[in-house]
Amino acid sequence: MLTLKPNCECCDKDLPADAADAVICSFECTFCADCASERLPGGRCPNCGGELVKRPVRPVDRLAKFPASDKRVVKAHGFCGSA
Ligand SMILES: [Zn+2]
Ligand SMILES: [Zn+2]
Repeated sequence: MLTLKPNCECCDKDLPADAADAVICSFECTFCADCASERLPGGRCPNCGGELVKRPVRPVDRLAKFPASDKRVVKAHGFCGSA
């Protein structure tokens, strides 16, 4: 099951399960669309170099049984401006 992380790993913006602007790589590194398009080199995941795609929105009736993660992940990538 896909881990729906609650925030952007780069700028710490909240990305709830129904966020339309969340993107993920194949390892579920999660970013906001702004970081993906404006900060991340080549628009790729800074952790694995992989492709970032829009995160699918989990239907609300499934979230009760398969809740989103509440474990925030933030990493200093240098270009994120938090280093
Ligand atoms: Zn961000
Ligand atoms: Zn990645």
